[in-house]
Amino acid sequence: MSRFWSPLVHSLTPYVPGEQPKLADLVKLNTNELPCGPSPRALAAIKAAADDTLRLYPDPEALALRTALGARVGLPADHVFVGNGSDEVLAHAFQAFFSHGEAVLFPDVTYSFYKVYCGLYALPYRLVPLDAGMKLVVDDYAGPCGGVVIANPNAPTGTALGLEDIRRLLALHPDRVVLVDEAYVDFGAESAAALVRDYPNLLVVQTFSKSRALAGLRVGFAFGQPELIEGLTRVKDSFNSYPLDRLAQAGALASVEDEAWFTSAVAAVVQARGVLAQGLEGLGFTVLPSAANFVYTRHSGHDAAELAAQLRARAIIVRHLKGDRTAQWLRITVGTDAQCAALLSALRDILHRVS
Ligand SMILES: *Cc1c(COP(=O)(O)O)cnc(C)c1O
Repeated sequence: MSRFWSPLVHSLTPYVPGEQPKLADLVKLNTNELPCGPSPRALAAIKAAADDTLRLYPDPEALALRTALGARVGLPADHVFVGNGSDEVLAHAFQAFFSHGEAVLFPDVTYSFYKVYCGLYALPYRLVPLDAGMKLVVDDYAGPCGGVVIANPNAPTGTALGLEDIRRLLALHPDRVVLVDEAYVDFGAESAAALVRDYPNLLVVQTFSKSRALAGLRVGFAFGQPELIEGLTRVKDSFNSYPLDRLAQAGALASVEDEAWFTSAVAAVVQARGVLAQGLEGLGFTVLPSAANFVYTRHSGHDAAELAAQLRARAIIVRHLKGDRTAQWLRITVGTDAQCAALLSALRDILHRVS
């Protein structure tokens, strides 16, 4: 509390990111980064861009990057927006599209940043419960609202809706923006980018942080019709004209151009995810079907917070979220084969000791 703060600041409850411990030798399975490094072509492009031209401002429109991102999904650059991580893209979208006086709708169990943006922009919101199986029920999103936000695949559950369900959601709210956060889409869900031309109310948000192993570069993007992109651009240009620096634009562009790296990195995660899920089930865990680079799992005989603490004592970090519906679950990032094996062996040991 401070007398210097604007009144709103007193009411903010900021997002708390998964910890980034400084210790080496940790098995870090808590923030859904990829276990492998980014495309070597991206790294080379970043190094090549680190030269005297850094004295110059970057392209404020990031046109080359937007063009390349659009081309991958058959959309022109005026259907593409880029920002400093998808968190920034999401923040701009909340400000640009959701201030209609009615509640913004999102699931009770989803990315907890959505609530934080509502706080920051003073937007009312309503949490729509996932069903007992942690699935999203489209019909529960009917009725007046200020807009709808879903993550697909959802986080932390990892489950995904098909495009037919997304179409139904879009049809429920032709006059409101439906934002589909596809941070994990590349690991096994269908992208709603294919629907952008048909639905003026659709905004699809993606990121380089997960499937492109570039969380440290901070690049996110969105697909939507030009009317939505212009709304986002107005907010962005009223906030920061240069959200993507020269290194980020160069690295992201080279990453998009390295389709071979991307395909094989994603395939490795999908393969390891299957092995991890099977291993967990073999230990008596329930694992939700995952279309993401993490699994959401629980054990009926063991407290999730206790398991997380025991793993931590063995230098393995997973994500445990407090809250009524999430307290008995663990979200575990798919790591390297060796990391997943270390996790399973630690869990085997822990379960053996306490039971
Ligand atoms: C990781 C994540 C993001 C944020 O990604 P950045 O691009 O690194 O800001 C957004 N949404 C969800 C659901 C995520 O899990």
